[in-house]
Amino acid sequence: MADPDSERAAAAGALARVHAAAGPYLDSLADRPVYDRSAEKLLHELGGPLPEGGAGTEAAVELLLRVGAAAATTSSGPRFFHFVTGGSTPAALAADWAASLFDQNAFARVSSAFGHEVETVALDWLRQLFGLPEGWGGALVASATFANFTSLGCATQWWGERHGADTVRDGLSGLPRMPVLSGGYVHASARKALQMLGHGRDAVEVFARDAVGRVDLAAMDARLAELGGPAVIIGNAGEVNAGDVDPVADLAELAERHGAWLHVDGAFGLFAALSPRTAHLVAGIERADSIAADGHKWLNVPYESGFALIREPARLGTAFGMPGAAYLPGPQDPGGGYALYGPESSRRARALPVWATLAAYGRTGYRAMVERHLDLAQHLARRVEQAPDLELLAEARLCIVCFRAAPPGVPEDALDDLNRAVAAALLDDGRVYAGGTVYGGRAALRPAIVNWRTTADDVDLFVDVVRELVSRLRPAA
Ligand SMILES: *Cc1c(COP(=O)(O)O)cnc(C)c1O
Repeated sequence: MADPDSERAAAAGALARVHAAAGPYLDSLADRPVYDRSAEKLLHELGGPLPEGGAGTEAAVELLLRVGAAAATTSSGPRFFHFVTGGSTPAALAADWAASLFDQNAFARVSSAFGHEVETVALDWLRQLFGLPEGWGGALVASATFANFTSLGCATQWWGERHGADTVRDGLSGLPRMPVLSGGYVHASARKALQMLGHGRDAVEVFARDAVGRVDLAAMDARLAELGGPAVIIGNAGEVNAGDVDPVADLAELAERHGAWLHVDGAFGLFAALSPRTAHLVAGIERADSIAADGHKWLNVPYESGFALIREPARLGTAFGMPGAAYLPGPQDPGGGYALYGPESSRRARALPVWATLAAYGRTGYRAMVERHLDLAQHLARRVEQAPDLELLAEARLCIVCFRAAPPGVPEDALDDLNRAVAAALLDDGRVYAGGTVYGGRAALRPAIVNWRTTADDVDLFVDVVRELVSRLRPAA
């Protein structure tokens, strides 16, 4: 019978097994399929009833590694173009292992001065990376969904204050519904954040001037004038279908004129700031009140990693502090920390991979990576334009290429079905991976390129596989 105490000496051996598996797994990323359906049959080996007597450390870890090495989706590899999925840089991966090794509770300075200080540095480096002014602060959170939640939580507190209310203490009752305005690019997770905050996901009023969702500034301006009181604007830096960006500076202008809070969801699009080729797309972000972004996308750190950056960071402590427990520090106490500036309480030291990857590659390394991805997106867009059976649906401004299959001779009214079939077949095939969507009313594919490992060969293989599937699935003439 094994228990942790009888296995005191086993940790180093188990870690050695992980280490031994790591090299071959990382080496295989360049070639292995993204998804291998045949490996799913191994998953039952992890099931069955809860063991009474455990198998012991090494046996359990060995089984997990054997099944995982075969059945894991290669989402950290170079050909996972679904969603917006980064990999892990070498430094981020190693530092993430270190975060588990040290097992810090980055709750506050009193639980881990190390975790707290590294987070402070990591947040300030992120601020500098995106060219935001000094004085901005933030918190590392699990994802951009939580970063939207954190930002909109601050916005809610601000909005309540404008109504003479303390929403943190008293909630929303007795107040009107908080007005939230956005263009058609607003992400589902911003709505989810509003639903978690008690505003409801339909709190968002959408102002779009076309089927794609480009923001209608004039209509938004008119609505803000009509409201005449505090409101929240959500700007979208990185629309998920084609990577387009709302005109952030124009939204900042509206926010300033009407006294609104401007939140920018920059989950991946914020990284446009890293290259002079794309920085104009996010010009004006420094005029926002809050920004949400992801680490596990374009920063290429392991899951779960997101961050909220706030112009007035003291609002984080106001919105997320936890007064009333005598054993806990308050937000302003020297022993306080990020658990009091964001939604989570106990939390892992997710700052370590963020710190390590920025320490390892710096501003120039990240700029080079982003520009490689911009080039690869252009390469993919050109290959789509050259293929007689494919049609580019939007200019690729960042890292996403939105296109559809449109082989000559296939009527327009058959194209949506064809594209849905191609998208499904792509996931089933597994050599490369990308998702289907609907863009401007048309079924389409939307590969996103944000993994540091991706090469032009990977992009070429993607186009070849898509075209092979199109020729197999297109209706007979
Ligand atoms: C991915 C994404 C999100 C949500 O991010 P998670 O990390 O999955 O929570 C929010 N907004 C945009 C624009 C995104 O692309």
